[in-house]
Parts: sequence; C-alpha cells; structure tokens
Amino acid sequence: MPEGDSLRRAAAAMAPVLEGRVVTGLWFRKLRGHRPRVGDTVHSVEAVGKYLLIRFDRDLVLHTHLGMSGSWRTAPPEAPVPNTPKLRVVIATAAGQAWCFAAPTVETHVLGARDAPTDRLGPDLSDDDVDLQQIVGRSRAGRTASATLAELLLDQQVAAGVGNVFKSEALFVARLHPFTPVGDVDDATLAGLWGIAHEMLVTNRDRPFRKTTGAMSPDRTFVYDRFRKPCRRCSDSILFSPAGERTSRSTYWCPRCQPVLGRP
Ligand SMILES: [Zn+2]
Repeated sequence: MPEGDSLRRAAAAMAPVLEGRVVTGLWFRKLRGHRPRVGDTVHSVEAVGKYLLIRFDRDLVLHTHLGMSGSWRTAPPEAPVPNTPKLRVVIATAAGQAWCFAAPTVETHVLGARDAPTDRLGPDLSDDDVDLQQIVGRSRAGRTASATLAELLLDQQVAAGVGNVFKSEALFVARLHPFTPVGDVDDATLAGLWGIAHEMLVTNRDRPFRKTTGAMSPDRTFVYDRFRKPCRRCSDSILFSPAGERTSRSTYWCPRCQPVLGRP
C-alpha cells in the first residue's frame, strides 16, 4: 500500500523526467476531467498526502490516488510502453516517461477549483514543520466519541499521509491500544501519537523500504505483519484484527505493551 513516504519518493523520481519539460506524448485510460495536451509544459510534480499531483499548463492538475496497489514508475524515453491492462497513464517528455499503473483514481481538476480533492485533506504529516496541535484539534472536530485511534490515524481529512503500516507501528510505539476511543485520550496523548507518526513518515521519506524500528535495529516493523510472533519488547504474541472486523483495515498490536486504557 503506498503511504505518504513512498509517494514522495515517486514524486522525487518523476520530477527530473517531467518538471519544466514539454509533454511529447500522453495517454490515459479512463481519465475523469479535462485532458492535458501534448505541447503542455509540466510545472510541478508533488506528493500531497496520498495524492500525486502533476500540474500542467492552464492550471490543470492531474491527480492520482494510488489506493492499495497503484504505482508510478519512470522509464527512459525509448523504453517500450508496457502492454498491460493495468496501465492508466503515460506521460512522455524528451527526458523520459512516467507510467502509472492500477491507480483507482485518475482525474484532473483546475487549480483552486473548489472540488479539488486535496482541499478535503488534512495537513501533510510528512512535512517537517507540520503543526501537531492543529492536527490534535482536527482529531476532535466532528468525530463521534466511539471512533478509535486506529481509525483516526487513517483519516486523511484529519492529517494526510499515514497508511496501514504506520498506523499499527505508531500505536505500538505510543503504547496505545488501537481500539481506544479517541474521546478517552487527552490532547497530550494525541499530540504524542501524531508526533510519533510524523517522525516515522519523515524518517522514511527518502528510503526505498519502510522501517519503523530505528537505525540500530535489523527489523523493519514492531508489530505490522507479525501476527502470533513474539513482541520485540515483551515477547508476548502479537495480535491481529483482520480488515472489516473492528476497522476497515487490518490492525496489529501487542496485548501487553498496548493495554486497554483503564486496565492494568
Ligand atoms: Zn509487547
């Protein structure tokens, strides 16, 4: 699943191929919205939360949301375009090509238009100077008391960037049970949790793989994808709730390190 950090890497790889360059070839499968044109200049390539935004002339912005399995890749100018039904977008310039595969959302909007999807996104949690107090405020706004911390972290309208891996990992480091109601924790705890997720996104921004366990550890994750394996901190068995059972996405936690609030 692409998270905020992997999208940033994709944007960084695509920038030299696209930014400031004239489009020499374009192809879309099932584009919604106005079409950019061959001859347009690409003005910017940017990852915002879980969206990859490519801005063309006329303030036209192509936004792709990569969902569970989408990806962007770059290729040399002469590389043959892959023959696969998963291909959604091809953008070619004199410097190379950018290919998008399997993105569930491929749309354009005009910059500043009110229906831009990024208008509905919270602050980008992988920004160095993100305002955590503002995110704590957004965590409380319009939220039912029964929403859980696991759901909160994935809510891109509160803060953009946390995917399913960082959700479980941040809750482990914060020693919070994933199904704790948001209403049961104080602002300082929420700020601490968002701060941990922020640190994870920042340290993984320029890395080809996700790692949450710190520079000295050979392991990649504390709890994610480790059902029934021993907790790295206390050796208890890691628990797992599949997608759809308690939350819309799978969740991993340690029952001893992350006790239910109010219980020993
Ligand atoms: Zn543990």
